[in-house]
Amino acid sequence: MTDQYVYAIPLRARFRGITVREGTLLRGPAGWGEFCPFADYSDAECVPWLAAAVEASEEGWPAPVRERVRVNTTVPVVPPEQAHAMVAASGCRTAKVKVADPRSSLAGDRERLAAVRDALGPGGAIRVDANGAWDVDTAVTAIRELDRAAGGLEYVEQPCPSVPELAAVRRRVNVRVAADESIRRAEDPLRVAMAGAADVAVLKVAPLGGVRRALAVAEACGLPCVVSSAVESSVGLAAGLALAGALPSLDFACGLGTVSLLSQDVTAHSLSAVDGYLPVPVRAPEPDLISAVEADRARRADWLGRLARVRTLAGAETT
Ligand SMILES: [Mg+2]
Repeated sequence: MTDQYVYAIPLRARFRGITVREGTLLRGPAGWGEFCPFADYSDAECVPWLAAAVEASEEGWPAPVRERVRVNTTVPVVPPEQAHAMVAASGCRTAKVKVADPRSSLAGDRERLAAVRDALGPGGAIRVDANGAWDVDTAVTAIRELDRAAGGLEYVEQPCPSVPELAAVRRRVNVRVAADESIRRAEDPLRVAMAGAADVAVLKVAPLGGVRRALAVAEACGLPCVVSSAVESSVGLAAGLALAGALPSLDFACGLGTVSLLSQDVTAHSLSAVDGYLPVPVRAPEPDLISAVEADRARRADWLGRLARVRTLAGAETT
């Protein structure tokens, strides 16, 4: 019996500049966990990702307070017709649309948003994610235009890179501001709330170091939370659902309907949304289809080397 696997799965569309998602699956007494930090992360940045995988595999998650979680569909930078088709096929009532990408323009973003609104109808919710691409003035102009093109935005995620910039944008627009990258990149995650910089906090299990630590961040920041994935396989996604399932209140759809961005999954029990909802699992599904997506020898060696270095670093930090 093997208790660790390395997978490499092509994405259906480019995401975060990558076309193949890779990660390591670890088995422990509580089940499976996933360690899949992006390639550009330093070993130090990977320590919380390891903590999240260790929590899943060795400890398990706190009991949920709900059985299912409403999710959004994610629309990458694709032509408007494709965006329309993706949203219509998703069954979701909320769409998150990637904007401010280097390969897109404001006009292209407007057209994509109009197509998404057409697919959702007036009752659906549309949020956009700029991944910190704008400065304050550009953000203010863009948000006003995109809000109009979308027929109303639910929120704009991370319009600018820094917390003071988020606060400045928030004072000048009538659209809610959500903090995503700021919640984990800032030395003190709670600073976001203190600075009046955000209306919504986006929580991701792995960069925050596990479900329990993410719950503590949610409580301390005092903002409505949205749980998002890091586009993991269903093994890692299960931890996001465990967090969404355990949050005392959950007012917005979560960004956990992301298995559809992968061309394959590691398990036949894939956590793909049905009618816009995902079930809250007790533990991660078994990676029973790993042989179809296992990485080659060189990539396995790279990942196991990274895992060993991060384990050493994590051990040094706790002693
Ligand atoms: Mg985001």
